[in-house]
Amino acid sequence: MMRSTCTACWAVADRDETTMKTPGPGFDSLGQDLRRLLGSAKVKTDPEDLLAYSSDATRYYAQGNPQAVVLAGCVDDVCQVLKYANRQEIPLTPRGAGSGLSGGSTPIRGGIVLDMKRMNKILEINKGNMTARAESGVVLANFHRAVEKERLFYPPDPQSMDVCTLGGNVACRAGGPRGVKYGTTPNYVLGLEAVLPDGSVINTGGISVKQANGYNLTQILTGSEGTLAVITKVNLRLLTLPPGRKTAVIVCDSPQIAAELVSRIIYEGAVPAVLEYLSVGAIWLMNSYCPIPVALDGQAYLLLELDGSPALIEEDLEKIKGLSSQMKAREVKVIADEKQAAGIWKARKNLSPLILRIYQKSISEDVTVPRDKIAQMVKAVSEIGAQLGITTGMSGHAGDGNIHPGVQIMEVTPEAERKAEEAIKLIIEKGLELGGTVSGEHGIGLHKSAYLIRELGRDQIELMKRIKYAFDPRGILNPGKIWPDEQS
Ligand SMILES: Cc1cc2nc3c(=O)[nH]c(=O)nc-3n(C[C@H](O)[C@H](O)[C@H](O)COP(=O)(O)OP(=O)(O)OC[C@H]3O[C@@H](n4cnc5c(N)ncnc54)[C@H](O)[C@@H]3O)c2cc1C
Repeated sequence: MMRSTCTACWAVADRDETTMKTPGPGFDSLGQDLRRLLGSAKVKTDPEDLLAYSSDATRYYAQGNPQAVVLAGCVDDVCQVLKYANRQEIPLTPRGAGSGLSGGSTPIRGGIVLDMKRMNKILEINKGNMTARAESGVVLANFHRAVEKERLFYPPDPQSMDVCTLGGNVACRAGGPRGVKYGTTPNYVLGLEAVLPDGSVINTGGISVKQANGYNLTQILTGSEGTLAVITKVNLRLLTLPPGRKTAVIVCDSPQIAAELVSRIIYEGAVPAVLEYLSVGAIWLMNSYCPIPVALDGQAYLLLELDGSPALIEEDLEKIKGLSSQMKAREVKVIADEKQAAGIWKARKNLSPLILRIYQKSISEDVTVPRDKIAQMVKAVSEIGAQLGITTGMSGHAGDGNIHPGVQIMEVTPEAERKAEEAIKLIIEKGLELGGTVSGEHGIGLHKSAYLIRELGRDQIELMKRIKYAFDPRGILNPGKIWPDEQS
């Protein structure tokens, strides 16, 4: 079942060749063995350290019980620890910042957590080729700052950018608000250095912007959620930094108007860099954080950022104003004051923590629907909430159909949890019925694994398992993820 509380089990008996066998001889002396291999400073086994690595940002769903944490400092550390884990058949969970929202880096089978954050060097920014090469533990916001200094632009912008790592972004196919115009992480990955479970190092792809060199292993690893290899370096494509930006808020009298306007704006070619759908409740929460609040005079809002040359921005803005008026939106407010615009975007980035100021628990889903089905999805989510008597809401990256339906619980009780669980199930089923996908950007990990088979069918899951076996025949890498045990 989705969101089960998983107890950390070391070994899982006789499932298939991709599952763990009984622990190897290194089990009792895991910490000692790892210290011998890598030195004491890189190995943690104290209970309080292990607790900090027991889950990703979804701690309230499931926690694992790792026996050791390795802080990798270089590729050779990664090779050594993988070789050892593979030989001893010890589960190993790669981890970036642990900001994931799918349980991806939660070590549900215990074993070793491999923390990649110390591998945080930007190795090259090549202006001539407009590419960069970096270690996988680089924090995304630091990478943004470094390339922007060179007037270059790396669009992927998950809202966790101040903590999440490039490796985690690649492993989850992370997206973000700018996905509507610029696409998501996979659109920028040209090549990877990765370590296979037997300790061998592969370099996939390259730094050419066009590649037709056999099976695209770069993209197989992109989105593999730490189940096939450990990514140690990434080669990323860059764009030119847009010369200007402008923020606008479209105020609508109903969520339906806002949702329909999204499709229309994009169809008419006035594609903003960011096009976020925000409920009135979301704006109310954001206002508590904004130095200059947005007037609460509508029922649903679209928050836009247009970028490009000043002339192009003005042209797109005029087009958007015209469409908004045709579609009976109440008003388009251009936020001319840069401080106010920055405040609004900062509040948007912090919307998830702001929700937790009010509610004890908030579940943010990332089921994603085709853009022309957003209006139906918005309606369905609110009906599901009403039917179950639970708070639901939607706020997110509407421009690409990824509007993050959410369920909020004011006071956590078993009954509220049960209703939330039911609401999430119905929301995901509705998303699939509308032709959507169970995950637009967070990945499958643990929490979506029960639903993937409904979207892809058994044949595709079986094929994925054969790919897993080709990379990781002993099944040591991040076991228990992407498909649930009963499908193993
Ligand atoms: C407040 C908040 C806002 C968020 N907003 C967004 C958003 O807008 N868009 C979005 O897409 N996500 C968002 N996320 C989710 C999360 O931040 C992303 O999924 C991010 O890509 C995870 O990166 P990480 O470094 O924290 O990876 P982790 O959480 O540590 O790991 C994620 C997965 O990647 C694997 N992994 C990590 N590093 C490696 C590696 N080097 N090699 C192989 N596998 C690896 C792990 O095993 C795991 O399966 C948000 C999360 C929070 C808490």
